[in-house]
Amino acid sequence: MRGIVTYDRRDLRALREMGYLPFADGSGAGAPPGDAPAGRPAAVKPAPAAPVLPFPVHVFYEIKSVLGRVDPPVPGAHNMISCFGDNQAVEREPGLAAVGPGGMRAVRGTPYFDWDWVCPSDAAYRQRLLDLVEQAAAAPVAGLRLDTVSFPREGFCQCPRCRAAQAASGLDPATWRAAAIAGFVREAVARMGRQPGAGTEPAPRPPLSLTLYPDPYGDHQFRRFGLDLAQLAPLVDFFVVPIYDLHYSTTYWVETLAWGFRDLLGAVPFVVELYALNVDRKALLKAARVADAYADGILLAYERAPEAVRILEELGAPPAHSRLAGR
Ligand SMILES: [Zn+2]
Repeated sequence: MRGIVTYDRRDLRALREMGYLPFADGSGAGAPPGDAPAGRPAAVKPAPAAPVLPFPVHVFYEIKSVLGRVDPPVPGAHNMISCFGDNQAVEREPGLAAVGPGGMRAVRGTPYFDWDWVCPSDAAYRQRLLDLVEQAAAAPVAGLRLDTVSFPREGFCQCPRCRAAQAASGLDPATWRAAAIAGFVREAVARMGRQPGAGTEPAPRPPLSLTLYPDPYGDHQFRRFGLDLAQLAPLVDFFVVPIYDLHYSTTYWVETLAWGFRDLLGAVPFVVELYALNVDRKALLKAARVADAYADGILLAYERAPEAVRILEELGAPPAHSRLAGR
């Protein structure tokens, strides 16, 4: 797989003009997403330009970021949804914040956290997320990607909602956390399959990917974040592992992490997402080739779209071993 990750509508416009994304019908060239009438997915018309690259380029767009901003679904793209990272939600309703040992709230300004984390047990917030998942899946998207799907850290969440839910489950805290997150993803998958007018036959759902924190060691995914990969793997089509640096002046650690995930995930495909904005091209390409040796492809994040396309052109087609090569 080869892909571009962006939160910038200017990149969507550029990618439409380059033929890597369809135009929203009626919006005209270069119009931002969101011109489709509310609640109705935008129709798709052929793009005007033929893509230069001889392999598919997947576009990933954050329709909901950790800032809490929500955009309408973007046809033709993998629509990314930040699940339990949401600054806006916690600002509006401080009681939503996940709570850890010693009463530590999982919010910005405290150690460990770059954004505010919502408690995964809040029923109303979960429903809002699931509504968004269903809305995006009903649009002609290339896929859905769930970000920040976990507890914020080990020892979280100890709020009254979570304590009551864990007690009612009869499970120990670690097992309950994993069941809570897997249960959310299972609900999301069910909502993705619920297409309007699908009749008796279940409609095929768009591909689903899920972002993992770049820690493949031991049982850290389980202990730190409440992610039981054995429960999650059957629910997703592939995982995404962001491995970010501003320079990639050394790459041994990229290789170590990518190989670690190859071992950890076994038969489940994963792609590595590299930070690409203003990174030296030679260093970025070296990091991409190192990660490519273990992963099923590379996504480039946040570089301007025309430059990102040029870097992908130089990188070339997905590796022969990629289990996502045809995508
Ligand atoms: Zn909680």
